[in-house]
Amino acid sequence: MFENRKIYDISMKITNDMPVYKGKEAKRPKITNDGDFSSGSAYETRLEMNLHTGTHLDRPLHMIPGGDKLDTLRLEQVVTNCKVVDLTGVKEYITEKDLVDKNIEEGDFILLKTRNSFENILETNFIYLEETGAKYLKERKIKGVGIDSLGIERNQPKHPTHIMLLENDIVILEGLRLKDIEEGKYFLFAAPIFIPDVEAAPVRAILIQ
Ligand SMILES: [Zn+2]
Repeated sequence: MFENRKIYDISMKITNDMPVYKGKEAKRPKITNDGDFSSGSAYETRLEMNLHTGTHLDRPLHMIPGGDKLDTLRLEQVVTNCKVVDLTGVKEYITEKDLVDKNIEEGDFILLKTRNSFENILETNFIYLEETGAKYLKERKIKGVGIDSLGIERNQPKHPTHIMLLENDIVILEGLRLKDIEEGKYFLFAAPIFIPDVEAAPVRAILIQ
């Protein structure tokens, strides 16, 4: 089905020194060796990390007490058609005004491409989705939204963007890498690893032309 189509990896690499949310050291992953051929007959690695590290998916419980966890996510929500929207001209945050002429329709999964994908600003002054932008996407009844920052918002008291999206069962993907992706329609694979009782999980996100 996908032969002869270009496949794009839009995920971050998980490494000990990768960028993490606001540069907090406690959020850096730890990759260590659990055993190798000097001590046994197999090579094994241990990974310790916050579930919001690198490319990942957020569920309602992340911001809403008693909210849904990963067990209720349907694969149809994350294996789906999607639209990449070019917002690389946005300077600080994405508002409704930036989105209105982007032909966003009910049921869309929208990936927001910003200058985060090109610049070394992931840990600090990253571009995010501001409250009016989130409200617009909610009113359009989209199924999901992804962004090329480690948080879909920052410095907004009470997290209105996360809450507006998650209350309406809109999937949030964070930590995408969209440098090589042009605006347009694609097929998205963004299934998280399955840890049923948690609020987020890492994703190897892939786009197919
Ligand atoms: Zn998150």
